[in-house]
Amino acid sequence: MKKVITVLLVLLMILLALPLSASGEVVLGGDINGDKSVNNKDLTRFFQYLSDWRVSVNTAVLDVNGDGAVNNKDLTRLFQYLSGWDVSIFPETVCDHVEKEWVVTKPETVKTDGEKALICKQCGKVLETQVIPKSKPQKYLDLEAGMLGLMNEARAAEGIDPLTFDYERQAATDIRVEEITEVLSHTRPDGRIYYTVLDDLGLSFSGTCGENIAYFGYYSMDSDTTAGYTKLHNQFMNSPGHKSNVLNRDFKSVALSFIIKNNRLYVVQMFFG
Ligand SMILES: [Zn+2]
Repeated sequence: MKKVITVLLVLLMILLALPLSASGEVVLGGDINGDKSVNNKDLTRFFQYLSDWRVSVNTAVLDVNGDGAVNNKDLTRLFQYLSGWDVSIFPETVCDHVEKEWVVTKPETVKTDGEKALICKQCGKVLETQVIPKSKPQKYLDLEAGMLGLMNEARAAEGIDPLTFDYERQAATDIRVEEITEVLSHTRPDGRIYYTVLDDLGLSFSGTCGENIAYFGYYSMDSDTTAGYTKLHNQFMNSPGHKSNVLNRDFKSVALSFIIKNNRLYVVQMFFG
């Protein structure tokens, strides 16, 4: 019977405690400026305060590291806390992290991973970070770099200046390479000529432009990278029309895009002079 009462008491205490935690009471350690959130603004305010600026601060939360003194060490500790380091701050922030949002802390590019953080809007703590993968598989980047290398070797052998990689206009070849998996032609699936893709993207150019397209079959993400770009490069160099684009002295840059689709490796080269 005593056990039952104890269990009931414990249950009762849990039930009584529930509304408290559900109410989301937040003790905001680190809320230096007292605006009911803990974020980079508190770092700024704290810095100003420590620099003897006349700013208002929440004096109850200044000793961030709890060592009895208020100085730059507290600023450092708050910075670490807001950066998601596993450090404690005083008074300890008690927060249920109900309101939170993903924030991109470093945007991804074609070549480099980005990062996003899940940040509590109440206490400002970084709860989780995730990598935003670079927008292209490494395989494609390796194919592009490898093919550009072969093209510039071929040009060097003829005493022609190397082509630079046209990253800006690669947005156009990224679209074109998808299109040639539908219609293998310099005419786009909608019936317009290939370079209208540049107009669509606002990537106008004055000068000459050329396009090489090709594919071969029985290729997958697991296939050999070097063999992939080498075979396509050789296809171009064995075809006079394509070869003349690769070795055109008037072309200064090239955008290249690959795609593996339908068990085939496709490439688009777009040259600009
Ligand atoms: Zn929180």
